[in-house]
Amino acid sequence: MPVYEYRCNKCKAEFTYLKLRADDEPLCPECKSADVTKKISSFSCSGGGGFSGGSGFGHSGGC
Ligand SMILES: [Zn+2]
Repeated sequence: MPVYEYRCNKCKAEFTYLKLRADDEPLCPECKSADVTKKISSFSCSGGGGFSGGSGFGHSGGC
């Protein structure tokens, strides 16, 4: 299911929205504003330097 994270540009409220249709426009649940920005839910591609002790992982970052 395509659940996206949004953040309101007005009141900075963050919420998730289940987008059922392509032309669906989410509204902020707090202030009912349509001025929202979809957050990019990256699966930790940027690499925060976490797996330092993993010996079996040949994962050198990069998606
Ligand atoms: Zn809002």
